[in-house]
Amino acid sequence: MRIGIFGGTFDPPHIGHINAALTAKETLSLDKIIVVPAYVSPFKINRKVTEPAHRLEMAKLAFDKPFTDISDFEISQGGVSYTINTLTHFSDIYPDSEYTLILGADAFLGFDKWYKYHEIAKIASLAAVARNAEDFKKIAEKARLEFAKVTSVEVNPIQVSSTQIRENPQLHRKFLTENVYEYIEKNGLYKDEL
Ligand code: ATP
Ligand code: MG
Repeated sequence: MRIGIFGGTFDPPHIGHINAALTAKETLSLDKIIVVPAYVSPFKINRKVTEPAHRLEMAKLAFDKPFTDISDFEISQGGVSYTINTLTHFSDIYPDSEYTLILGADAFLGFDKWYKYHEIAKIASLAAVARNAEDFKKIAEKARLEFAKVTSVEVNPIQVSSTQIRENPQLHRKFLTENVYEYIEKNGLYKDEL
């Protein structure tokens, strides 16, 4: 089985994330995508993030396709979430699968700052999601210098980030799925960011 792993803080998950994961699945003929919300991203240690239980629930609502699984592995581990541990965990459970780590262009371009990135690249291929020609060029340049197996995935760009969504409620209707939108309303999330 070909498994894509898609990690992130997902605070909140938006249609840019869903589009990236679904396009990677189609382009690379993946059988399954495991979405893994981080407990704490190593790059967001000093940032206040929404309670993990809310982020997990929103990820379940956003990624509701039959081929998507939402994993609470990083959240149940607690502490800083390192992708190498997550990949090791899944490759222990399903040793006969092939793994692809799905990364946005920004994440891919900083990949060589990640903890044990050489080890990660031994376990998984990398799928770098390009939102425009500029991303595509930068990914290709970087991929040439790297040792890992990298595929560029071109998506129809959805230019939005969770940060923009947290800071601007007017973006909620446009960039969130209906069920995530309702979850945020019901639980009064992101009110104190304004
Ligand atoms: P934040 O603003 O909090 O950093 P984010 O929108 O970048 O939020 P993350 O949880 O950091 O979301 O991202 C998870 C993954 O999704 C990363 O690999 C990131 O590059 C990718 N990603 C984020 N936004 C988009 C988008 N609009 N289109 C494609 N990929 C995206
Ligand atoms: Mg980000």
